[in-house]
Amino acid sequence: MRYSQNKDESVALLRQVLALAAPHDAPLNPMSFAVFYEHAAGINPRLSAALEEALKASPRLDDAVLVRLYAAHVAEVGIDQAQRIQGDMQRVMTDIVQSAARTGEAAGAFGNRLADLSGALSAESSPDLAQQVQSARVSTQAMRDSVQTLQQQVSASQREIDGLRADLLRTREEAILCPLTRVLNRRGFDQKLQDMLHTPPPNGTQHCLIMLDIDHFKRVNDTHGHQLGDRVLEGLGAVLRSVPDEPDMTCARYGGEEFAVLLPASSLSKALQVAETLRSRTRGIRLRNRGTQTVEMTVTVSAGVAAWRPGDDAASLLSSADAALYRAKSAGRDRVIAA
Ligand code: GH3
Ligand code: MG
Ligand code: MG
Repeated sequence: MRYSQNKDESVALLRQVLALAAPHDAPLNPMSFAVFYEHAAGINPRLSAALEEALKASPRLDDAVLVRLYAAHVAEVGIDQAQRIQGDMQRVMTDIVQSAARTGEAAGAFGNRLADLSGALSAESSPDLAQQVQSARVSTQAMRDSVQTLQQQVSASQREIDGLRADLLRTREEAILCPLTRVLNRRGFDQKLQDMLHTPPPNGTQHCLIMLDIDHFKRVNDTHGHQLGDRVLEGLGAVLRSVPDEPDMTCARYGGEEFAVLLPASSLSKALQVAETLRSRTRGIRLRNRGTQTVEMTVTVSAGVAAWRPGDDAASLLSSADAALYRAKSAGRDRVIAA
C-alpha cells in the first residue's frame, strides 16, 4: 500500500494539493495530482527534491514537467523489467568485448604473418612487392591499434553499466524501505510474505506472523503533535531492528502505526517470545524534550501472533493475527495474545 493517510488526512492533503497546483499551467489530472499529493504528504523525498529543483528553474510548471516528474518519481519502476534490460545490456557488452578481443588477436596474427612474408620477399629482393606488403603491415598495425581503442572504450562502458546496475539495486532496496522507520514498507512486506508462503515450513517448524499496533496513537498525536508521533514511529523502527535476529526474520511497517514481523520456519512459542521482547522494549522508549531532556512520554504496543496452518493463505494468516491483536486491544492493550 503506497498511501497510509486516512480520510481526514487525505482531505487535508487535497486542500494542500489544490493550493500547490493553482499557480501552475499544468492541468490537474491524476498524474499531476499524484505528484503534488506525494509532495504534500512528504512521503516521496526524491520527488520533493526534484519538484523543488524544477520550481527553481521555472516558477510555473507545465504539463510536460509534471509528466516527467511523475514518470521519474511516482510511477512504479518496472524493476524486474529494468533489471532484465540491464542484464541483456551486460551480455551484449560482454559479447562485444570478447569479439573485439578476438579481432585484436586475429589482426595481431595476421600482422605477424605479413611481417614474415615481408621479410621473405625482401630477401628475394623484390622491392615493389616488399613495399606493398610493408604497407599492408602498417595498415594492419593501425587496425590493431583501433581495435585496442575500441576494447578500452567497451571496457569503460562495461564499468559504467556495472555502476548503473549497482544504482538500480540500491534503488530497488530503497523502494521497499520505509524511510522513517528504516524497516520494510508494505510493498516489501507483501513480497516477503509471499516468499514465506511459497516455501512450506520444514518439519517441526511453523511460519509465524506478529501484528503490532501502537496503543492510543491518535492520542499521542493529538496531545504532543504529529512530529512527536513521527519520533515514536522512528523509535519503534529502532526497536524492531534491535530484536535478536531470528533466522530470516522480517520486520515491516504494515501501514500507519501498524507493524508486522514475519518469522519463517519458527514456532508459535518463539514468535510469542519475540513479540513479548518487542512489547517490553517499546515500553522502554523514552521520548525526551529535545531542549530540556525531560521525558515527555512513553508508549505501548499491543500484538497479535498467529502461526500458519495448512490451508492458510496471506489473507487468512493476516486476519488470524489481526483478530488476536484486536483481542489484545480489547483486553486492555500493552499485551501479546496468540491467535
Ligand atoms: P488503538 O490503541 O486502538 O490502536 O488506538 P489508536 O489511536 O492508536 O488508533 P487509531 O487507528 O484511532 O489512530 C491511529 C493514528 O495513527 C491516527 C493517525 O493519525 C496516526 N498515524 C498514522 N500514520 C502516522 C504517521 O506516519 N505519523 C504520525 N505522527 N501519525 C500517524
Ligand atoms: Mg493504534
Ligand atoms: Mg491501527
